[in-house]
Amino acid sequence: MKHLPTLDAHGHLAIDHSSDDLTNSGFVLAMTLSLEEATKALERQEPRIAWGVGCYPRRAVSQEAFDIGEFRELVERSAIVGEVGLDTGSRVPIEKQIHTFRQVLEVITDHPRFVSIHSYRATRLVLDELRRIPISTPVLHWWTGSADETSEAVELGCYFSIHSAIARHSKFRTRVPQERILVESDHGYADPPAAIPCRIEWVEHLVAQQLGIHVKETRRLVWRNLAAIIQETRTMDLLSTLFIKTIREEMIQDNS
Ligand SMILES: [Zn+2]
Repeated sequence: MKHLPTLDAHGHLAIDHSSDDLTNSGFVLAMTLSLEEATKALERQEPRIAWGVGCYPRRAVSQEAFDIGEFRELVERSAIVGEVGLDTGSRVPIEKQIHTFRQVLEVITDHPRFVSIHSYRATRLVLDELRRIPISTPVLHWWTGSADETSEAVELGCYFSIHSAIARHSKFRTRVPQERILVESDHGYADPPAAIPCRIEWVEHLVAQQLGIHVKETRRLVWRNLAAIIQETRTMDLLSTLFIKTIREEMIQDNS
């Protein structure tokens, strides 16, 4: 089997990095926190990075500046949406966050995408919103919901991008089918991009242990699950040529 690179389903990369800085980051779904940041990010063309369109629930300026028309235009150009969601620990009033999140979900019902969702201290609220406005492939990032909420999320079609800090939680083994699992670094803006593959390998080890599968199998699983999302949302054409090639190779191996 050809060596597969790491795939980080939720990281943050500063948009002032040079493209050279990002050559050793592995494949990353890079989240943005505001439409302004997303606008700049979507101008970039790194073969291993898929930039997302986000509006962070903890950032008042991002929430204030959110505009549904602008969001829709950006979403039309990207396979990835995030970071979006709800956070009751945020200083932004929850009503404001819910208003934004509903607009996000409404756009996604017409434009299915990989949607990376933040739910800090708001797991119940996020599930309620996903029930209200169902979307095809929600991806719960750093999920801390209860076991029962996790089962409910699975029923709602959610995927889970697992961070190392929560990878030991048994609900990912007992409540989540393997076909819904992804891994993430939630790497910060100031951290060196070249460290992302190490962080992803670490979470792959933890997930492999939890699921009782080989660590190499975990990486294949994650790529396969991304491929399933990209197929379901019909967003292959919005990814870079190298991303498409890697996903296609994995799909071919899977069928052989
Ligand atoms: Zn994040």
